[in-house]
Amino acid sequence: MCLICDRIKMIREGRNPYFVKELETGYVVIGDHQHFRGYTLFLYKHHGDKTELFHLDKAEQVRFTGEMISVAEAVSRAFGAEKMNYELLGMGDAHLHWHLFPRAEGDIGDYGNKGKGPVWWYPMEKMYSDGNRPAPRELEDMKRRLLAELEAEGV
Ligand SMILES: [Zn+2]
Repeated sequence: MCLICDRIKMIREGRNPYFVKELETGYVVIGDHQHFRGYTLFLYKHHGDKTELFHLDKAEQVRFTGEMISVAEAVSRAFGAEKMNYELLGMGDAHLHWHLFPRAEGDIGDYGNKGKGPVWWYPMEKMYSDGNRPAPRELEDMKRRLLAELEAEGV
C-alpha cells in the first residue's frame, strides 16, 4: 500500500488533520515534521502507473507543475521563506508528490557544506524527531495562514 494514497483516502474521508486545500490536480498538505517551518507537500491526485512527470500528458504536466508553483508561492508568503526548495523524488513512495521547503540561512546548522545544501543533508533522525511535530493549535494556525495565501492568489 502507498502511504500517499492512504493520506489521500484520509482527506477524502475528512480525517486528515494536515489537509489544507484541494486543487485541480492535487492536494495541499502541511508536512508531518516542521524542522523547516512551513514544509508543505503537494500530492498528485492519481497514482496508478503514473510515477514520473513525463508519464503525464503535456497538458497535465503544465497543470500539475503550474499548481505546484502557485502552492510554493503561497508557502513562501505564509512562512516568510528566504528561498524555496522544490523536490519531487519518489524513492520512498513513487506516487508523484512535491516537497516544498521554505529555507532560511542557518536552517541545517553546521551540516552539509558548512551549513549550505539540501534539506536532506540535515540528519534524518533530527528532521523527523517527534519534537518537530506541530502541536494541534500550531498546525491549525499554519493551515489557516497557508489557506489565506492560496485564496489571496486565487488558487
Ligand atoms: Zn499512491
